[in-house]
Amino acid sequence: MFCVRCGKEKETFDGLCIDCFLNGKRLISLPAHIDMERCANCEEFRISGQWVKKDAKDAIEDIALSQLSVIDGLRIISAGAFSSAQDERNFFVSVDADGELCGRIVKAEAETVVRIKNGVCQRCSRQLGNYYEATLQIRSGKKELDDEIRDDTVRYVRERIENMSSVNRQIFLTKVEEVPGGVDMLLSSISLGKALAKELSDAYGAETKESSKLIGKNDDGSDMYRMTYLVRMPEYHLNDVVMFEDKAYKLSSITKDNAKLTELGNFRVTSIRRSQMPSLKVHTRNEELMKATVVSRSKGEIQILHPRNYSTVDVTVPEDADIGDIADVADVDDVLFYVP
Ligand SMILES: [Zn+2]
Ligand SMILES: [Zn+2]
Repeated sequence: MFCVRCGKEKETFDGLCIDCFLNGKRLISLPAHIDMERCANCEEFRISGQWVKKDAKDAIEDIALSQLSVIDGLRIISAGAFSSAQDERNFFVSVDADGELCGRIVKAEAETVVRIKNGVCQRCSRQLGNYYEATLQIRSGKKELDDEIRDDTVRYVRERIENMSSVNRQIFLTKVEEVPGGVDMLLSSISLGKALAKELSDAYGAETKESSKLIGKNDDGSDMYRMTYLVRMPEYHLNDVVMFEDKAYKLSSITKDNAKLTELGNFRVTSIRRSQMPSLKVHTRNEELMKATVVSRSKGEIQILHPRNYSTVDVTVPEDADIGDIADVADVDDVLFYVP
């Protein structure tokens, strides 16, 4: 075949040899401007329909690359974008690409202006509009929820949501409200409420109960519900001294199925079922255990100074215990026990 422009006999494309074909041809192109939304609330950018958290420069360069069009037959090997600010909202971007066309390595360039526009992402518009699908009601068995348990639980929920929202943008905490008897946490989704209620139940041995309320119709005509997850936090915490069937134990582990109790005095470990856990009574919170000065140690026993009257007292310790200068002790009916 002969090139219709230069007459050389070669393989032709649209009647032209590769040199004439490439000469002056625009191999890649970009729109004259690209508008990119930035959420006015969280400053995330919308690229290819998705809201993403990105450095502004990366977002500008990425959106330019995402809009690159290339002629048929050109395979892009690598492409880089370089941006420079014209003002706060307008950025000039040039894209340089290396590609392969008909077995030949070619270089190409294109330019655009990325304009940043204000928007509000769906998550922020929901969050700002106090949208919620589920409520976690944190309560205790008593009339009031202890401040410490409340703060612990709220912290736990906040941390979990922060973690989960880094991979799922639809997850957020709408509101935390102190209410008589406890605290309500309003959540963006039903599945989040369900998951957190289960986690709190597993981690703290809390009892949970769910209820639903019809609040309207979805766009597709199906019923729309809001769920409430009542989470009754137990008074005990891990490592507290607890009473169970008139004996004192250290609560040494809690799992979703059972708890392990270490009996004070002989250090025997007993496992109790989940259903027995509500009968545990807190005797001394772990942070309220007394600190006793250790006077001497022997196998299976130490001598301590009574923290209140400074008399010396012998208490049993596990045979393999490594006792320092201070030991945790609990006073159960005027008898001091070492708490492992
Ligand atoms: Zn030619
Ligand atoms: Zn946002």
